[in-house]
Amino acid sequence: MRVILLGAPGSGKGTQAVLIESRYGFPKISTGDILRSAVQDGTPVGLKVRDLMNRGELVGDDIVAALVEEQIRRPESRNGYVLDGYPRNLAQAREIERMDGSRPEAALEIGLSEEILLERLSRRWVCPRCKTITTQAKPGEVPGNRCPKCREPLVQRDDDKPEVIRERLRVYQEQTRPLREYYANKNAFSLIDGSGTVEGVFLLLSIVLDARLASRTSGH
Ligand SMILES: [Zn+2]
Repeated sequence: MRVILLGAPGSGKGTQAVLIESRYGFPKISTGDILRSAVQDGTPVGLKVRDLMNRGELVGDDIVAALVEEQIRRPESRNGYVLDGYPRNLAQAREIERMDGSRPEAALEIGLSEEILLERLSRRWVCPRCKTITTQAKPGEVPGNRCPKCREPLVQRDDDKPEVIRERLRVYQEQTRPLREYYANKNAFSLIDGSGTVEGVFLLLSIVLDARLASRTSGH
């Protein structure tokens, strides 16, 4: 099964993708991860990506699509995979179907209110040296003010400042609205309440996935 995880920044979808991978054996295909590793491995596409990033340009849809397709074609992805960060828009959703048309799919959105997302994201601090992300108990509270791993003073990324977060959430909603509708029309969409603990949210996700997998095997 092709599992598409949708969720705003701060919804914890990356974490849930890892849990789905370990429980169901569907490899996690994350656009962030594959862009990073292509750059690191110095593949031809990776060199192109590095060049674009160095010039401060966006990595185009065609490059991202090519990298996703490469992952989908791997033998590990034969039984299914979980997409994290892709598709982000309708064009990409259709692209996925071109790459891998006949596979059944489930699009699961981890839903959270804007207030909760804002609160979660503004609690995020990052270590400028080792990039460890630390979540503080309360907004603005930085116990020790040091990275738990390397003791470097923590900083808040511009991305995690409230006005920037609001804009990211607005963009997310705008891009995701047509996707919800698209997958709902195909009967593939489920909205999951993302306000619980990591384990609680995973339980809800797995109930939906189990039901979808069961209805597949029984032929409905
Ligand atoms: Zn550190």
